[in-house]
Amino acid sequence: MFKEKRDELLFCWNDLGNIQEGRPNLGDSMSVIFYRLMQYSLRDVLIKRFDPEIAEEIYYESGKKAGKEFCKNMLNKELDFNGFVADLQKKLKDHYVGILKVEKADLEKLEMQLTVAEDLDCSGLPISEETICTYDEGFIAGILEEYTGAAFNVKETDCWATGARICRFKVTKK
Ligand SMILES: [Zn+2]
Repeated sequence: MFKEKRDELLFCWNDLGNIQEGRPNLGDSMSVIFYRLMQYSLRDVLIKRFDPEIAEEIYYESGKKAGKEFCKNMLNKELDFNGFVADLQKKLKDHYVGILKVEKADLEKLEMQLTVAEDLDCSGLPISEETICTYDEGFIAGILEEYTGAAFNVKETDCWATGARICRFKVTKK
């Protein structure tokens, strides 16, 4: 599945394997350093091999695929919006991804403003004046698309890396 050329995304939750069986002593936790080592070395190579815009697109698309699979397998899509958000907040905290808050939500227009504190991807990074949580943008879009069936644009407007010390995401319906 990883060595054959194809034109569609095939990743699904089962590809993550049986972690309890495979890591009976180490379990499913690891250090943030190693997650970031993977995330930023991969991004570095994508920027060099392609260009920054394509690297961003790849991160957004993979985040979106991950968000859809995460929603299908870890969240309860039957809940109403408030229940769904509470479920999502708990799962993101339980898995040490970040602390999610909904600052604004217009459910008729399907527009939202979300924040993530202590974000896994960027909290503590050097200030670079760039919003860098592109994978998270895609991840949020994927979760909301899977939950609502609508398509979304998600844009990070504040990030730890811009000096904001929190990530803020503007969500609009496509
Ligand atoms: Zn960020």
